[in-house]
Amino acid sequence: MKKISLIGSTGSIGTQALEVIENSDNLKVVALTANSNVELLAQQIRKFSPEFACIADESKFAELKSLVCDLPVKISCGYDGLIEASTLESCDTVLTAIVGNAGLKLTVEAIKAKKDIALANKETLVTAGEIIIPLCKEYGVNLLPVDSEHSAIFQCLNGEDRGEISKIILTASGGPFYGKTKNELKDVTVSDALNHPNWSMGSKITIDSATLMNKGLEMIEAKWLFGVDIDDVVPVIHRQSIIHSAVEFVDGSVIAQMGMPDMRLPISYALNFPKRVKSVSKPMDIFSVGSLTFDRPDTETFKCLDLAIRSVKVGKTMPAVMNGANEAAVDLFLKGKIGFLQIGEAVCEAMNNHNPKDVTLDNILLADSMAREFVYSMKF
Ligand code: NAD
Ligand code: MG
Repeated sequence: MKKISLIGSTGSIGTQALEVIENSDNLKVVALTANSNVELLAQQIRKFSPEFACIADESKFAELKSLVCDLPVKISCGYDGLIEASTLESCDTVLTAIVGNAGLKLTVEAIKAKKDIALANKETLVTAGEIIIPLCKEYGVNLLPVDSEHSAIFQCLNGEDRGEISKIILTASGGPFYGKTKNELKDVTVSDALNHPNWSMGSKITIDSATLMNKGLEMIEAKWLFGVDIDDVVPVIHRQSIIHSAVEFVDGSVIAQMGMPDMRLPISYALNFPKRVKSVSKPMDIFSVGSLTFDRPDTETFKCLDLAIRSVKVGKTMPAVMNGANEAAVDLFLKGKIGFLQIGEAVCEAMNNHNPKDVTLDNILLADSMAREFVYSMKF
């Protein structure tokens, strides 16, 4: 029985992970955490009987305690509680389904406690890949990708020699605004941007998909996970989201992974690795898939992709600034305070304003909070 701590259990990845776990005989939840959705967390505790649960929002602690007072579960709150969930003695694998750089410190602590990491929280690798990858080696911990593209690449690399990779072909749906001009994007609304054609996800990643920032973050994630140069990661717009990514090898052979766009598939692969188990998802009917298309992304209109690449080429704390500025700008956009195109402008200005420092955990956290402050105080 593999014991899972689920960090961010009330979100899109978290709830789908619980469906996977519910349908498996080999997986058991030992810890659940959420930010503030106390009702759903309480329901999940009742259903999955974890030994530990945490609500990050301390003002909701008393309410959670009273909702589950009849159950034998230890309840905690705040960031310390998230760390306790991530380092729980009985846990084997921590699924990081929390959003943003908030996942960084708890991931570091989980690795130090020798927990395997099923990584959904890509922002952690974007800002601190240089720390996380060697740390996993030092503590002998598996880093298992949950992101569908990275799960695809990981599966394509099964049994292969990583030294024989020539290119990683990272597919992108293109999001709701594929083919639109800059002028057409000026006045798009939050609900237009949240209307993703193929995937149903949390709001932050859905906006990142609309700006193409998500693909930039994923290029950096791929660089760290698979040890490749950023120039060897090729983003490709593939509207159908059937090929989840591919690897080209030195002999010219290309291996791709296909499937329906359903996150329960990569979640199940990461949680059950190295085994494959019967899926809860609908199987793919190859005859109804239709044509598959591949196009270059429009980096002139969708500036965020190049900003992400630029940040990783500069290195040091620049990816942390790019990521922190993006988190703040997406938050402002979701609150209706800035326009869609201003997300990229804010990230660009924050990066121009930053003097990169060497990579340490403290420098990354400082760069992240400076970037957020910079964007929140910008005059748009
Ligand atoms: P979401 O917003 O739906 O859920 C986030 C979860 O984390 C919730 O349970 C929330 O309560 C918790 N949380 C958020 N901020 C927190 C904080 N500051 N402190 C404590 N808890 C907090 O997000 P999601 O779409 O499930 O995405 C989670 C992560 O997985 C992100 O890093 C995202 O990029 C990545 N990811 C998501 C998908 C997807 O299909 N949703 C696909 C690939 C990767
Ligand atoms: Mg993805």
